[in-house]
Amino acid sequence: MKHVLSKSTYIRSLQCLKSLYLYKFNYQQRDVLSKEQLQKFQRGHDIGSLAHQLFPGGVDASLKSNFKSKQAAMHTYDLINEGHKIIYEASFVYNEVWVIVDILVIDGFEWKVYEVKSSTEVSETFLHDAALQYYVISNAASEVFKARVIDFSIIHINKFYRKKGAFNIKDFFITKPVIENCRRMTDYVKTKIEKAKEVMVEKKMPPILVGDHCEIPYPCDFRGYCSVNNLSKPKPQFQPAALPSEFTLLEILSTRNAVPAFENNFPYQYIPYAVATLDNRGAYNCMLLLNEMGKTNKAYDFLMSVIKESKTIVVANENNFEKLANELRLENDVKSEAFNLQQTNVIAWKDFIKSEREIPGKLKNDIDAEENFVAYLNCTDIFLQHELESNIENYIKQKLETIKNEIQSQKD
Ligand code: SF4
Repeated sequence: MKHVLSKSTYIRSLQCLKSLYLYKFNYQQRDVLSKEQLQKFQRGHDIGSLAHQLFPGGVDASLKSNFKSKQAAMHTYDLINEGHKIIYEASFVYNEVWVIVDILVIDGFEWKVYEVKSSTEVSETFLHDAALQYYVISNAASEVFKARVIDFSIIHINKFYRKKGAFNIKDFFITKPVIENCRRMTDYVKTKIEKAKEVMVEKKMPPILVGDHCEIPYPCDFRGYCSVNNLSKPKPQFQPAALPSEFTLLEILSTRNAVPAFENNFPYQYIPYAVATLDNRGAYNCMLLLNEMGKTNKAYDFLMSVIKESKTIVVANENNFEKLANELRLENDVKSEAFNLQQTNVIAWKDFIKSEREIPGKLKNDIDAEENFVAYLNCTDIFLQHELESNIENYIKQKLETIKNEIQSQKD
């Protein structure tokens, strides 16, 4: 029951065999995980545990301390032999591939398997992931228990869920059967497993250059290594954007949760809690929204006035800003003609920075503001609340001033 591949290394091998090689034989060269990536892992774990409630009364097969695939699978097999009908985090090994499935439901010799995803859609990668799990579990089930897998479904978040009163877990999740797709992919899975195993046996780094595949479906965590080892195509020369004479720096601090925390919100909705602007003449304006969490009308009005008054808006992250702005528009005034982002020049502030310049640490993440925001939500002491509010306001002001100084230092 020794394993050579796991679910994550299999998915890694589909993206790039060199990434698999580096992960196995040069792990220390891996990039440091970003705050967003760590949050994503944690979110996946939390949503997986939440979905267990759809099948209550099960037993958790996960082993807490460092363990190997053999121990984990033997523990799952013991639980099955003891007659448990619902098992969470069940481990199986077949053809030297180890998978851990979120929920296993046993009805005699017929098994149902559920894989939980914290996304609102079923992506192609999830189908590959499901196909691998189906291949391993269905073979292990028939070989060890003479059982068969009669259902394999992906459980994911319902993007149309709206929080109305108490949390409703049945409305929050959607179950999508994918077993037919898994069956169709069996030969593909077997071929890809063999290809990945070849890399492990040969222990030779596949000569793969960096390219579009390094970002799809996930940003590869060996991009740092590949880019400094002459394995990349030459990058086009970066040209910083020209700074217009009039501009407004805009920052919107927002929170975004898989499970909506506030009334009438939907999963992963951007909920602004502070908005601020600083223009080229130094005029600063800030609005905190901590007393009206979940409502978005004030942030929308603030944004509308910035769009009306400014020809060029400079934001921290152009893509995030567009998503957030469109959500605010849909939530507040679908038909508004005044809200026309196309007529406004929205530029990411990093476009003004020369590529070789390091981005200041405090601009890399919003942890200071976020920590204060989370503390505010859990705080009942009015004096402490004021202190946390002022920390958030100081943070956003400093952030805008730092960006302005950075941009202007580039001009000099
Ligand atoms: S950075 Fe690109 S080429 Fe290098 S290992 Fe990752 S996916 Fe492969």
